[in-house]
Amino acid sequence: MKVLVAAKRVVDPNVKVRVKSDGLGVELANVKMAMNPFDEIAVEEAIRLKEVGKADEIVVVSIGPAQAQETLRTALAMGADRAILVKVDDQLEPLGVAKVLKGVVEAEKPGLVILGKQATDDDSNQTGQMLAALLGWSQGTFASKVVLEGNIAKVTREVDGGLQTVELKLPAIVTTDLRLNQPRYASLPNIMKAKKKPLDEKSPADFGADVTPRLKVLKTEEPGGRKAGVKVKTVAELVDKLKNEAVVL
Ligand code: AMP
Repeated sequence: MKVLVAAKRVVDPNVKVRVKSDGLGVELANVKMAMNPFDEIAVEEAIRLKEVGKADEIVVVSIGPAQAQETLRTALAMGADRAILVKVDDQLEPLGVAKVLKGVVEAEKPGLVILGKQATDDDSNQTGQMLAALLGWSQGTFASKVVLEGNIAKVTREVDGGLQTVELKLPAIVTTDLRLNQPRYASLPNIMKAKKKPLDEKSPADFGADVTPRLKVLKTEEPGGRKAGVKVKTVAELVDKLKNEAVVL
């Protein structure tokens, strides 16, 4: 079975994001970028499925600028077999990404598509669900465990206050939650080998996808600064502040 994994290039989660001077987005120039952490988990899960003989090929796809090749090479170094870069100059909205991915799915015919539950830059948590709807496939979102048995995927999902296990008929869409696995680091020999693995370049038009934006960003703002804390000298003073200033007692 072929597994398709979607991996987005995002601002490295360890970098403090700054709003652009025009207020219409965040600064990306000279900012360290990385693979979306939930997508690292998606790549890892696909590799584990291959290691236990449930998958035979892993294709990783990224929709982004030329530099998204680095993200794809990281996935190839982790263990993916082949990569597809769908080149776009501007960031696409989740619906645009889902339409492109639908085209990739129709061309590649995977038995399973794994995405992250959300991209840490736009926090949309929409692409996997939209892709499932466009394809008419089942979806198991927020997966913390995936078990494949023949034509079935059992997906344990993290839901409010517990876990829910659903059974999906393949082909299906799975989106990863944080506790699904711990992604591996690529070893140096694998990073070298990844340079020779196939990486195809395509455009949204190759998949007949209309990626025209439908949303207009009006404003992007930094979060408001936090007020400094105060030190209290006695328990009585603390109780007094909790009662009269914070009004929580
Ligand atoms: P989002 O709906 O934007 O929060 O993204 C959810 C997931 O969709 C991500 O974790 C990725 O797996 C996938 N995805 C979103 N945008 C892209 C992109 N530009 N390229 C590849 N995968 C993407």
